[in-house]
Amino acid sequence: MLNKEQLLSPPSNIMRLERLESHLVECARLYIDEIIENSFDVNSVVFKCSLNSNFAFSKADDPNGNYSIEFGRALTSTIFNFSKSISDKFSDEIGWNNKDDVTEFLFNYISWFILNHELAHITWGHLNFIRDHGESGYYEINKKKVPIKHLAKDIEKSKEFWQALESEADSNTISTTLVSFRYINTASQWGNWTLDKTLNVHGIVNSLMFYFLDVLMEGTDDFRHPKPYVRQYLSLPSIDSLAEKMNHPKEFYTDALIKANFDTVLRILELKLPISFMIESISWMNRLDKIIHETGISSYRRRKKI
Ligand SMILES: [Zn+2]
Repeated sequence: MLNKEQLLSPPSNIMRLERLESHLVECARLYIDEIIENSFDVNSVVFKCSLNSNFAFSKADDPNGNYSIEFGRALTSTIFNFSKSISDKFSDEIGWNNKDDVTEFLFNYISWFILNHELAHITWGHLNFIRDHGESGYYEINKKKVPIKHLAKDIEKSKEFWQALESEADSNTISTTLVSFRYINTASQWGNWTLDKTLNVHGIVNSLMFYFLDVLMEGTDDFRHPKPYVRQYLSLPSIDSLAEKMNHPKEFYTDALIKANFDTVLRILELKLPISFMIESISWMNRLDKIIHETGISSYRRRKKI
C-alpha cells in the first residue's frame, strides 16, 4: 500500500480525475434533491469539488437549513491515487478483471462514503449544534496550534463530544452508502451480485477506506475523530438496523461485513491486527450512547416529523 507521501503526490491523470469529480458532483446533486432535501428538514445543500488543499469541509450556512459541503483537490487526488494503487489486489480478491473499471468503482465508493458522512453531519443535526455551541479555540498538533470550535469548556470533554458526533456520522454512513450507491455507481457488476457478494464487497471497500484514512492521518493527533480502526469497528454493527428495515436476518449482514473486514486486513493489506484495537473499539462503543446523551444534541435532529 502507498505511504502517506505517495498518497499526497499529484495524480497521474488530471483529466481522468476531473471527469470523476464532475460525475460525483452531478450524482450528488440528484441524490441530495431526491433524498436529502425531501426526507429531512433541510432547505438546501450545495456540494462542490474545488482546487482547495482542504480535505472535506461542511458547514451550516445559516440556522434555516442551508448547508454547503466542499471536497478539496487534496482529498479527491488522494482517493484517486489510493484507488489506483489498490485496484490489482482488490480485483484479484473479488474476481473482477477490468482494472480501469475497478479503479473508478473504488474512487466512486470512497468518495460516496465521505459525502454520506458529511451529509450525516447535516441530517443528524451536528452542524447546527456546532453552530450554536461551538466556541472558537485551538488544539495543538506537533507543537502547532490548529483552530477548532470547542464543544465544551473542558478540552478533554470537547474532544469526547467531537469524537462522539464523528462516530455517530460513521455508524450511519455504512448503511446510507450501501443503499444509495446506485446514484453514483456505473459498474454493472454491482447489480448482478448476490446479496452475500454485495455485502462482501461493501465490507472490503469500507475496510480499505479506513486503512486509507489511517495512512493519511499518520503522525497527526486528530482531535475530532477516533482512530480510523476504531471508526471502522464502530461502523460494523450498525448495519444491523438496515438489515432489520429490509426484513433480512441481521446476523447475516454483520457476519458478512466482519468476515470481509478480516479478509481485507489479512489478504489485501497483509497486516496483522493487534487484539488491543478491538478492545479499544468496544470500550468506546460502550460509552458512546451516554456521551451522545450528554451533548444534548437530541433536539437538533433534522428528520422530518410526520
Ligand atoms: Zn465528520
